[in-house]
Formats: sequence, C-alpha cells, structure tokens
Amino acid sequence: MSAGDPHPSHPVDAHGDPLTFNVAGLLAEPAGAAREYRVEDVAVDPGDGMVLTRPVSGGVRLLRTNRGLVVATDLRTAIAGECARCLRPAVTELRIRLEEEVLPSIDVLTGAPVELAEGEDPETPRLSDHHELDLRTLVVEAISLQEPIAPLCEPDCPGLCEECGARLEPGHAHGDAPIDPRLEALRAFRSAADADADEPTG
Ligand SMILES: [Zn+2]
Ligand SMILES: [Zn+2]
Repeated sequence: MSAGDPHPSHPVDAHGDPLTFNVAGLLAEPAGAAREYRVEDVAVDPGDGMVLTRPVSGGVRLLRTNRGLVVATDLRTAIAGECARCLRPAVTELRIRLEEEVLPSIDVLTGAPVELAEGEDPETPRLSDHHELDLRTLVVEAISLQEPIAPLCEPDCPGLCEECGARLEPGHAHGDAPIDPRLEALRAFRSAADADADEPTG
C-alpha cells in the first residue's frame, strides 16, 4: 500500500500552475490510494470583479475511487468587499472545503475515452485528456458560491446615521435632535453663558 506514503512535493506540470495536478500515477493505483498536498500562497483571480485580499493556502487530498478521484480541500483565503451597512471596505474570510468527485476523460490504463454513465450529471468535473486535475476551476467556482451577499466590516457594524449619513461611531449624536423642552431650556441657558464668556473682559 502506498496510501500512507507522504507526497509533500507538488508534481510540476507543463503549465507550471500549482493548482494543476497530474494524477496519472494515482489513477494507476487501486481505489483507496491517496495523495496529500500543501498549497502555499497561490494567487487566484476569481473573476466577476471579485478580488481576493490573500492568496489561497491550505491542504488538498486526492483519494482514488473506483470511478475516479474524490478531491477534498481545506483551503483558506479572503475576499474584498464593501460593508453592507457602512460602505467601508470589508474583508470576509473564506474557507474552501470541497469534497467533489472528479472523473477521468481517458482511461489511464487503456487510453480509451471514458463515457459518462447513464444518468450521470454532465456537469460532473472531469480530468483533462492528460490526466490533469484542474483544481483552479473548482476553487474559483467555490469562491463564487461563497461570495458574501452582505459583507460586514465588523460583526456588529453600527451602520450609517439615517440623518446625516455618517457612520454611527460610538457617541455619534446630533445637537438638534430629538428635543426635550427641559434640555432646550438648558441649551438656551448655556448659549447665554457662552455668549457672556465671549464678551471681552475688562
Ligand atoms: Zn460597516
Ligand atoms: Zn448623524
């Protein structure tokens, strides 16, 4: 059994993409064989105007099944956005936990095309004709699905003041609202005192 062998080094593919994995070797092994990889600080452009504030890092596990592979990931990154309450920049942490079966396009032993079984979802991810797993596409899809609808700059963002549009920082208040008659009298008294203080003395 080679399932327990560590495979810390990433196989280098022709494109040099650290999110492309050549799995021909794993496909030649029996079901149950597995590979584990580390993904370190890989830049990903999720498209659609989304911007990641951190590259993607974490772990990838590929498990040989009877039909293909199960790709399991625990990757982390963060996405930039605008706070839904106060419009300040908001950064949302994302954890990409895929567990997805990917089927071969070509039988690694015979070289024959692998047809999808009857009733198989045509959207099922497939390996390339060269037995490569394109994890980048799966990661981008996962990021799109997790894009927060209403990101917040902080969990208890107070939002904007309906009156002046400024962010409701602690202590935000307006001098002219709401007016209690007793406070109004006090304010008039203070204004008079201020005016007296402004009088030139002597
Ligand atoms: Zn906010
Ligand atoms: Zn205000």
